[in-house]
Parts: sequence; C-alpha cells; structure tokens
Amino acid sequence: MQTQQKYPKLFSFEFYPPKTEAGEESLQAVHKKLSRLNPDFFSVTFGAGGSTRDKTFDTVVKIQERGVAAAPHLSCVASTHENIREILHGYRSNGIKKIVALRGDLPSGMMSAGQFRYANELVDFIRSETGDYFQIHVAAYPETHPQARSAAEDLKNFKRKVDAGANAAITQYFYNAESYFYFVDACEKMGIDIPIVPGIMPITNYSQLFRFSDMCGADIPRWLRKKLEGFGDDREQIIAFGCDVVTRLCQQLLDNGAPGLHFYTMNQSAPTLAIWNNLNLSD
Ligand code: FAD
Repeated sequence: MQTQQKYPKLFSFEFYPPKTEAGEESLQAVHKKLSRLNPDFFSVTFGAGGSTRDKTFDTVVKIQERGVAAAPHLSCVASTHENIREILHGYRSNGIKKIVALRGDLPSGMMSAGQFRYANELVDFIRSETGDYFQIHVAAYPETHPQARSAAEDLKNFKRKVDAGANAAITQYFYNAESYFYFVDACEKMGIDIPIVPGIMPITNYSQLFRFSDMCGADIPRWLRKKLEGFGDDREQIIAFGCDVVTRLCQQLLDNGAPGLHFYTMNQSAPTLAIWNNLNLSD
C-alpha cells in the first residue's frame, strides 16, 4: 500500500442518468446535497452500446455548469472510432476534462459490431485523439473481473490500461478490505503507480444488492449475506446495519492509505451522507 499513501485523497460520487422528469428533479436535489461535501468530481454512468449517450451527456454538462467537475463514463463496446471521436469532441468543447473509460457489457442478445474489444484500446484511442487533454480513470477489480481467465491475467489486463495512459482507477465495490489491500500490493509489485480509489456501495436493499453483486462478480461475504437476510423486510435495520458495515470498511481503507473513496450513490444522498458523516470527512 506504500504507493497509494502518497496521493492526495480523492472523493467522488457516481450517478446514473435519470430516465424521467421526476428522476431528474430528484437527482438535482441529491446533487445539491452532495455538492456541499466538496467532492473532487461527480461521475455519470453510460449505458453500454450508447443507450444513454445523450442523457449521460446532458447530465454531465449540467453538473459541470453547477460548479463541480463532472466525469462521464464512456464505454466502447459496440462503438466505432467515429462514435467515440464525436463523443470526445462534444465533451471537450463543453470543458469536460475527466473521463471514466470502460469496455462496458452488452445487453444479452445484442451483437457487437464495434471497433473496440477492450478498455485498454479505448484509453489508447482517447490518448491518440486528444493527447493529455483528458484525465482518464479506468475500472479495477480487487476480486477479479468475472470474465477474466485468472486473477493474474486480469491484473495484466489492468496494467494494459495503465500503460495505455490511464491516470487513476476506481474499483468495483467489495466488502472485504483485504481483497483491496492484496490487489494494490500486487499492482505495486508490477510497477503500477496510479491512485486506485476504492468504489463504495452503500447497503440499503439486500435483494437488489444480491442481484447486482451476482451480475458484476462482487462477493458478499457469508456473514454479511446471512445477517442481511435475517432482517427480512425491516428496511430500517438493513439501512442502519449496512451503514455501520460500510463505514467500518471505509475507515479501514482510509486508515491504511486508500487514496480516497468513490461512492456508487444510486442517485440517493442519504446513505452516502450517513457514511460520510460517520467518517467525519467534512472536518
Ligand atoms: P476491460 O478492462 O476491457 O476488461 C474486461 C475483461 O476483459 C476482463 O476480464 C479483462 O481481464 C479482460 N481483458 C481486458 N483487456 C484484455 C486484453 N487486451 N486481452 C484479453 N483480455 C482482456 N458499465 C457500463 O456499461 N457503464 C458504466 O458507466 C460503467 N461504469 C463502471 C464504473 C466502474 C468504476 C466499474 C468498476 C465498472 C463500471 N461498469 C460500467 C462495468 C464495466 O463496464 C464492466 O465491468 C465490464 O465488464 C468491464 O469493463 P472494463 O472497462 O473493466 O473492461
């Protein structure tokens, strides 16, 4: 964890682009509350295959106009060079300077006719088209990406993104701090020297969390799964316990040198605010 300790701490919050007017209004209120915490940036997800292309763009531009940096996610699966070039140009001409560069996952049944296979090719393309203009974040998987042949292969593939010019990484969420510490140590041994910011998923709803975690390959330790199941429909208990578990995880990460935290807010402010306040991050 030595290399991680030298970086200034980065705090960021992730949103998805709202689908409805009500969702948009609610996101504005969430954004306002979280802006008071003075984050380094807000990021906005992108539907693989370009399904949220315009919504992501609009949300990012609005956030940036309100005064805090915004970073669009950009996934390259099923995209052509021309699509990506156009999107990069749009962001650049709106003063957006950060990008989260991803491969993305195609919805099942959709075939890819794209010109990119992996995220390292996207990072490479962004650098060749726009030089050092963008600060590029990429994804990292302390518990190994679900499609990777092995943890070692996945690590090599992560390094390809760093070698292509990524400036920082955000991890998939996890509830086992050791997985992050081992991952960062392995990166250090391979000479990877960029901030690797833990992605943090607040716990508010266990069936949604289980479903999500199955899809993205995030492990929910048995003790945590059992405990959450035991609360049944008692949301208050789930939220209180989840907040305690995630606060402790964040504290452990920060105490051991993690270079900040990236919160998957799910467009809600309360769970993230509660963890933030428990950690006294505004002091
Ligand atoms: P890659 O780095 O390309 O890796 C994908 C798989 O291919 C891995 O198994 C890797 O080991 C392997 N691989 C990589 N490069 C090579 C290579 N050169 N040769 C052989 N194998 C290789 N998805 C969205 O659709 N929209 C979003 O907005 C979004 N935001 C995300 C934000 C974060 C912080 C994270 C962690 C994930 C996000 N995702 C998003 C999910 C992400 O798109 C998926 O996890 C996807 O499956 C992998 O994307 P990647 O960029 O990590 O891919």
